[in-house]
Amino acid sequence: MTEYGAEGPAQAGPVVSGVVEYPDRIFAIDTHYVRPALDASHLVVENGRAAFVDTGATPAIPLLLSALSDLSISPLAVDWILLTHIHLDHAGGAGALLEHLPNARLVVHPRGAAHLADPAKLIAATRAVYGNEVYDRLYGEIRPVPLDRLVASPDESRFDLAGRTFRCLHTPGHALHHQVYLDERTGGIFTGDTFGISYREFDVDGRAFILPTTTPTQFDPEQLDGSIDRVLALKPPAIYLTHYGRVTDVPRLGADLKAAVAAYVEIARRHASADQPAQSMFDELRHWTFAALDRHGDRTAETSRRRLLDPDTRLNADGLEAWVRRLR
Ligand SMILES: [Zn+2]
Repeated sequence: MTEYGAEGPAQAGPVVSGVVEYPDRIFAIDTHYVRPALDASHLVVENGRAAFVDTGATPAIPLLLSALSDLSISPLAVDWILLTHIHLDHAGGAGALLEHLPNARLVVHPRGAAHLADPAKLIAATRAVYGNEVYDRLYGEIRPVPLDRLVASPDESRFDLAGRTFRCLHTPGHALHHQVYLDERTGGIFTGDTFGISYREFDVDGRAFILPTTTPTQFDPEQLDGSIDRVLALKPPAIYLTHYGRVTDVPRLGADLKAAVAAYVEIARRHASADQPAQSMFDELRHWTFAALDRHGDRTAETSRRRLLDPDTRLNADGLEAWVRRLR
């Protein structure tokens, strides 16, 4: 893969900061959500036409538009915004981005469509999870998506990008309305949050480290396990994670991810009857994760591990608490 800005693109051209080019005309654009290299919008280009997979939040939109410009792709050439789910770090900017892409339509799970057309409930739910101060800093204004530009995608529906087909697969577990997109040209899959998160800071000799994301409020371990299996059954040569970018070695990562989900669930069950389950299980989730990093061969300092992973661990604990409360 080529990190533009580090070595420059393969051919002479503009330096594009925060854009990574993978094989098969797939790009990861850093949305700079929270910190660098945490949240990607992917761009696929085929015969001069383009599709975004996830958009990041509204503050990312100028970055996505300048990436298009730097790659010499007109906003008129974008046919699709393919959303994996409507959590705002994936979809918050979709309405605002559409206003700049006159020929694009937006694809979303049928359960998510109404919330994009009228985002009031989505905004309220996100404020409840993150609090108002964080919400205002990270998400900004959420623009509604006009109904005539919304495509609610049944399971197994297909979308054409200049002869390159993307197949939508429903994958509940992280959220009920989650779906992934199989790039039938390459076999690669854009998995949103279904196949977990893998920060490049924890790569060891090119080997990725992976963790589940069990964010509130719809985490369901059995559904997630089934969805991970559904992804693995397609034998993708590469997976494109919103958090963060392209990973290979998929069978090994799938096994690691399923083991991590099982371990998180076991910890959550043991803290289920605590007064405040999330607070109670946090230290143990962190300890398990750091032990897994040790086994992976990671040598990152403890302070850096905490800085990079504690926010996810807190959200994961909150989502596990929501799950154990549903079980009661
Ligand atoms: Zn999510």
